[in-house]
Amino acid sequence: QTVVNRIAAGEIIHRPANALKELIENSLDAGSTNIQVLVKDGGLKLLQIQDNGCGIRREDMAIVCERFTTSKIKSFDDLGSIATYGFRGEALASISHVAHVTITTKTEDSKCAFRASYSDGKLIPQKPGMSADPKPTAGNNGTQITAEDLFYNVPSRRKALKNPSDEYNRIIDVVTRYAIHNSGVSFSCKKQAANAADINTSTNNSIIDNIRLLYGSTVASELLLVEKEFADLEFKMKAYITNANYHVKKLTMLLFINRKYLYLWYRAVESSMLKKMIENVYITLLPKGSHPFIYLSLEINPQNVDVNVHPTKREVHFLNEDTLVEAIADAMQERLAGAND
Ligand code: ADP
Ligand code: MG
Repeated sequence: QTVVNRIAAGEIIHRPANALKELIENSLDAGSTNIQVLVKDGGLKLLQIQDNGCGIRREDMAIVCERFTTSKIKSFDDLGSIATYGFRGEALASISHVAHVTITTKTEDSKCAFRASYSDGKLIPQKPGMSADPKPTAGNNGTQITAEDLFYNVPSRRKALKNPSDEYNRIIDVVTRYAIHNSGVSFSCKKQAANAADINTSTNNSIIDNIRLLYGSTVASELLLVEKEFADLEFKMKAYITNANYHVKKLTMLLFINRKYLYLWYRAVESSMLKKMIENVYITLLPKGSHPFIYLSLEINPQNVDVNVHPTKREVHFLNEDTLVEAIADAMQERLAGAND
């Protein structure tokens, strides 16, 4: 059973950045306005997230790492439903199967915080000989989750992740993208023992402010805003796109659907139609050799969104996909044409 769970966990958590993405989404779901990430050895030794959200009640602490346990009774017409689609109540459970997890949390109405440790979905004693019950401790409102020694019990996975600085870059990438999209939330990301944070945003920042901070003023100053609502197709788009030839290392694409980041790497959620459209329509419009930046956020009636689960990746499809993607392409083309008049 434990081995089966560990394999199942590996399907959701492939690397530190995956785990962090899940933890950040939980913090956002908890209504946090401040999220602090602390990392050691690319998240393999330590991945810690501190938020100021609603916290977890003492009586729920025993079950939060159990599989399929969720406090989010979301229906499919919830705008955020896609955020946990496919693995509801599985993230913490999965992490606890492949790492040593400690949670310290306090709800607003509790006099003190509680700390608990977990392994394989269950509470475990924090010290040998102690009971496994959560222990009262000092702490602020919110939740701190620590995952240590990721994949300590999955040697093959551990071996595949031998470059901590590469893993750290992926972590930075995840924090960057969530920070830009959730501009009302302040994010920080720091290596343990480092003096300065690598990411530090403020709640007063706009999306553009955060793009400037995280991708540089050259990128930010080139951006064109495309904002449009298509009532008949039941969706809204908001995009910031570059209009000029400037040189960054690679194409930067930030796609969000109903608040969910479509992260474009191995086994990630993808929409190939959107990607192809961006490649074929938008990128070919720009001067050869340019490396565009695109932030695109779509809000679509969730009933029109469908996530297909393949063995190797999850794909997102929409009702009237051709029409919808064409509408986005047209809106971007129009904006680019207008800017070049
Ligand atoms: P899901 O997000 O699909 O519900 P998770 O395994 O990610 O499943 O989390 C399990 C549960 O733990 C959540 O439903 C929530 O009740 C609780 N939880 C996890 N992280 C936090 C957090 N940062 N703040 C408050 N509650 C949390
Ligand atoms: Mg979750």
